[in-house]
Amino acid sequence: MALIVQKYGGTSVGSIERIKAVADRVARCKRAGDRMVVVVSAMAGETNRLFKLASELCETPDPRETDVLVATGEQVSAALLAIRLQSLGFPAISFLADQLRIATDSNHGRARIKSIEPARVIEELHAGKVVVVAGYQGVDARGDITTLGRGASDLTAVALAAALKADACEIYTDVDGVYTADPNLCPHARKLKRISYDEMLEMAGLGAKVLQLRSVELARRYNVPLVVRSSFNESEGTWVGQEDQSMENVLVSGVALDLNQSKVTITGVEDRPGLAARIFGPIAQAGIVVDMIIQNASADGRTDLTFTVNRDDLRRTLDLVRRVASEIGASGVRHEEQVAKVSIVGVGMRTHAGVAARMFEVLAGERINIEMIATSEIKVSVVVNAKYGELAMRALHDAFVDNDAIQFAGETV
Ligand code: ADP
Ligand code: ASP
Ligand code: MG
Repeated sequence: MALIVQKYGGTSVGSIERIKAVADRVARCKRAGDRMVVVVSAMAGETNRLFKLASELCETPDPRETDVLVATGEQVSAALLAIRLQSLGFPAISFLADQLRIATDSNHGRARIKSIEPARVIEELHAGKVVVVAGYQGVDARGDITTLGRGASDLTAVALAAALKADACEIYTDVDGVYTADPNLCPHARKLKRISYDEMLEMAGLGAKVLQLRSVELARRYNVPLVVRSSFNESEGTWVGQEDQSMENVLVSGVALDLNQSKVTITGVEDRPGLAARIFGPIAQAGIVVDMIIQNASADGRTDLTFTVNRDDLRRTLDLVRRVASEIGASGVRHEEQVAKVSIVGVGMRTHAGVAARMFEVLAGERINIEMIATSEIKVSVVVNAKYGELAMRALHDAFVDNDAIQFAGETV
C-alpha cells in the first residue's frame, strides 16, 4: 500500500466544481488502496484578495496580523475538500499547521520550516482516513501563525512527504508538467518527461513558478520523488529526480523568464575597500535577497554599482540604499522598477563550451540589449528591458530547445 502526498494548487481548487473534481481524483486513488495525504492551496485569487484587503487598511500592515489573515485561504479549501470526501463516503479529516506542529521560525511571510511531527497524520492514516492539510502555513515557537512564502503550499507538501517518507509527492496544477519554457508564454514549449533536481532548482529560482524554489531544495535534500501533473487531465506529467546520464546529452533543457525583478544603480561610488560591504550589509540584514551585481571599473576613482532585487523588496531596498548612498557620498541612486531576467538552464552546460556566446548572438539577432549577465555551472541569465522579456524568451527557446542540432550536444554541435 503506497503512501502518496498530493498537492492541489489554487486553480485546481478554484471553485466548488473543481473541489468536486479533486475529491473524485483523491477518491479514485484511495479506492485503489493508497494511503492519501492531500495538501491544498487557497482557492484561486483568494490569497491576493486577502493581501489587498489588508493593504486597503494600511500601507505596511503588520506582518504577524497579515499572516493570521492570509493563512485563512487554505483553511477554507482544506475543510471544503474534507467535507466533499466525507459526502462521497470517504472518511477524511482536515488539519491546520499548528495541529500538525509544522514548526517554523518567526519570520512572518517567509518563515522556514524547522520540524514536523507526523504522529497525528500517521494515526489518522492508520484509521483509514484521507488526511487533508492546509498548505502555506506554519506555527512558530510562541504558537503564532506564520506563512512560508508565496506559492509555498508546494513546500508544505514536500516537507510532509519527506517527514512521512512517502512513496511519491504529486504536485497537481493547471499545466500538465514542467515545460521547456512557460507554456502560457511560449507556444513551442515542450513538456519534459524528466528533469533533474538541479535543473528544476535553477528554473524555479529563475522564475518558473510551476514549482516553488524551496520545495525543490527540500525534495533534493531528502530525495523525495516528485512529479508535476495536471489536475485537469490524466496526462503523465514530469518527474523531478536525480540526474541521469541521458540528461547530460541535452544542452539546454529549459528557458525561464522572471518579470518580477527590479534594478537599482548607485552612481559615483568612491572606489575604495569596504564600500560594497557598507551598501550590501544593511540590505542583507533586512532579509532582502540581492540577485545579480555588477560594478564597473572606473578611471576617475569612482564607480557605478548595479544590482537586482525582487520587485516586492524594491521600496525597502531604495529606503536603505538612499540612506547609505548619502552617508558614503555617492552621487545618486537610480532604479528601474521592472526588468526582465531571461535564463537558459541545462546540466549539459557543465561539459560544453560556447553556450553563453551563442545566447548573446541570438539576442543580438533580435537587437535586444543585454544589461547584466550572470552564470553558474548550469545556467546563463541576462537582464534585459522588461518589454523585450517575452521576445527574448521565445528567441532563445527557438534557438536552443527547438533546434535539435544544438539541443543534442553530442557530435552534431
Ligand atoms: P498552482 O496554483 O497550481 O501552484 P502556479 O501558478 O503556481 O500553479 O504554477 C503553474 C504555472 O507555472 C503555469 O500556469 C505556468 O504558467 C507557469 N510556468 C512557468 N514556467 C513554467 C514551466 N517551465 N513549465 C510549466 N509551467 C510553467
Ligand atoms: N495560497 C498561497 C499563494 O497564493 C500559497 C500557494 O498557493 O501555494 O501564494
Ligand atoms: Mg504554485
